[in-house]
Amino acid sequence: MGPPPQGLKPGQIKDPKIAALFSTKDPDARFDDLKEIGHGSFGAVFYAFDKERGETVAIKKMSYSGKQAAEKWVDVIKEVQFLTSLRHENIVEYRASFLKENTCWLVMEYCIGSAADLVDVLKKGLREVEIAAICHSTLSALSYLHSLGRIHRDVKAGNILLNDAGCVKLADFGSSSMVCPARTFIGTPFFMAPEVILAMDDGEYAERADIWSMGITAIELAERRPPLFNMNAMSALYHIAQNEPPTLAPVEDGSPSWSSAFVSFVGACLKKEPGERMTTAEAQQHAFVRSSFAPYVVVELIARTKRLVKELDNNQYRKMRKLMLLDE
Ligand code: ATP
Ligand code: MG
Ligand code: MG
Repeated sequence: MGPPPQGLKPGQIKDPKIAALFSTKDPDARFDDLKEIGHGSFGAVFYAFDKERGETVAIKKMSYSGKQAAEKWVDVIKEVQFLTSLRHENIVEYRASFLKENTCWLVMEYCIGSAADLVDVLKKGLREVEIAAICHSTLSALSYLHSLGRIHRDVKAGNILLNDAGCVKLADFGSSSMVCPARTFIGTPFFMAPEVILAMDDGEYAERADIWSMGITAIELAERRPPLFNMNAMSALYHIAQNEPPTLAPVEDGSPSWSSAFVSFVGACLKKEPGERMTTAEAQQHAFVRSSFAPYVVVELIARTKRLVKELDNNQYRKMRKLMLLDE
């Protein structure tokens, strides 16, 4: 990322287009019953009730005070601008944003959790039909983004959310690029395409970097962890850039092996050379994901996961309680 615009102080808004992004009302007066459901580098995400619209929402609170406040402020504007400019059934829906006490409240539609949360609860990989349904919807979102000349750059199970109706929603545009091709070294190491890693020195990459990450995510959904997860991030980056692409691990004795369509899908996503990799359109047409998957596959997956959460002991339940907030 380049330096912040000259002389822009955190929270300071000169451009009327940017001012228009933020409501001037007090968010504390509008949102009630905040409960933390996730966190990241920026701060935390909360479950909340929107009294004005009478609905449950998610609020990502991003602070822009302290160290590197100016950079954080630029990131806040970028993420809000990015999300406000998107509208797609498989992208988390934007509601509003507010500024209060050096914190941005980014309000979105509420999802019950991410695909990574489900895998955590189930303690094993998902079934092929479930992985196919999640990939199918994620690819619709990516196709839309790519058609706008943008790159997500952080596709992984933790950024793929599910709502209670079984819809799959791509989220977390904090790392996304407005331009394609791009050159910035950004993303989550285990999921980064070789050309993104190599762009660190010199070079550029385009939207097919997201297709690589989609392939890694498919392995993550099947095996609970992305390949190389036991390595430290630096070694993993080196490994991805230098070695043959990863493949699905052979299944354990007794379990059915992966279908040839699934193996082929993963292989076609994980071509090291971007020119040999599937395009987004080709990925959408691949036999593994092509047939349309009714949301009931995901609805059933959510129901299966919730039944397991109910059986957890107190300590474990507290950690996964967020999946149950709409049922309490
Ligand atoms: P990362 O550190 O992975 O880059 P991040 O810090 O940028 O993530 P997000 O991925 O946007 O933050 O949100 C963090 C977590 O909060 C998500 O993984 C998810 O569990 C939860 N979350 C985010 N948005 C929502 C939402 N709309 N509904 C429900 N939960 C959400
Ligand atoms: Mg995230
Ligand atoms: Mg992020």
